[in-house]
Amino acid sequence: MSQSGPQAHPWIMNLNPYVPGKASLDNGRPVVKLSANESVFGPSPAALEAARTAADDICRYPDGGSHALRHAIADVHSLDADRIVCGAGSDDLLTLLIHAYAGPGKEVIYSQYGFMVYPLVTESVGATGIAVPNKNWAADVDGILDAVTDNTTLVFIDNPNNPTGAYLNWDEIKRLHSSLPAHVLLVLDAAYAECVTAEDYKAGEELVDAFDNVVMTRTFSKMYALAGLRVGWAYAPAAVVDILNRIRMPFNVCLPGQYAAIAAMQDQAHLKASVEFNREWRNWVRARLMALGLDVVESETNFLLIEFPDESPFTAKEANAYLMDNGYILRHLGFLPNHLRLSIGTEEQNRAVVELLTAFMSGAGHSDPALS
Ligand SMILES: *Cc1c(COP(=O)(O)O)cnc(C)c1O
Repeated sequence: MSQSGPQAHPWIMNLNPYVPGKASLDNGRPVVKLSANESVFGPSPAALEAARTAADDICRYPDGGSHALRHAIADVHSLDADRIVCGAGSDDLLTLLIHAYAGPGKEVIYSQYGFMVYPLVTESVGATGIAVPNKNWAADVDGILDAVTDNTTLVFIDNPNNPTGAYLNWDEIKRLHSSLPAHVLLVLDAAYAECVTAEDYKAGEELVDAFDNVVMTRTFSKMYALAGLRVGWAYAPAAVVDILNRIRMPFNVCLPGQYAAIAAMQDQAHLKASVEFNREWRNWVRARLMALGLDVVESETNFLLIEFPDESPFTAKEANAYLMDNGYILRHLGFLPNHLRLSIGTEEQNRAVVELLTAFMSGAGHSDPALS
């Protein structure tokens, strides 16, 4: 390779680019995409209307400080709007936190089965990622504490966890925080907080209020169903807010995104209906799949992690191919070869997936050359 041309940081070439869940088959045939944890319940009609209204103003820059949106969030969650920073999805805020607090020689801790943005961004800044094995599918508090060193600057907990759906209760989160040294920033990524119904769960506001080394991130992509607009937010101690505001892009939340997210915030009845729909179908699908003899991790999210036998013809790989042949795309993750992640769909889609997996597990349709 030529050494005279432009040279990026050497660690960048070791990165594996993020591969999103598939939305269509390789032959272009349309399929039902249940691979990205999107909300089929859809956004509030008021949010859609606001996004359409925003179209009239898109020759203008959005409000760089997202003032109205921060206040709409603060009102609903009873928070201080000055301690909220909005971003282009919570990915934006997670990335900014890593840029600000990690780099070569620093260590970032996350779970082995966790959100893929953490390792991706950690490696992109030349920091060292420490992937701690999960416990009961959630983060392992003791394992994480054992992994902390003087060089650790960040600990990420996706709570509930993606792709497992499991969560850590509030006592465990507090136990983790109380044993972390003051120089470590604990990031509570609560992307699915809106759909959690477990009573011993909290997203993290209280810890952010009480300590200067805890940040909570949230998103409009999941239960608010605005993934395509890219809106997220962080609730953080004043010093962290200051850091984020120094390094974020000046106009990081697009104008339709701000308008729609404000309207979505103001329609909590729609959110509630969406959460109820999700809970009902998640429980229904899980019960049906478990009745087939499949292990399905108990989930507080809008998806289920399904474990398949490791013997042909019942493997996750074969199930994935069978579902795809029949028009349904789930998520098959390289680091969980025996599992498929299924996002909760419409009633019709949920029933169809259960029906297909029932046929698959009974042996029907396997290795049928007509299907491939
Ligand atoms: C979906 C997701 C996010 C980020 O979503 P944005 O669309 O960037 O707001 C963050 N964390 C977890 C665990 C997620 O599953």
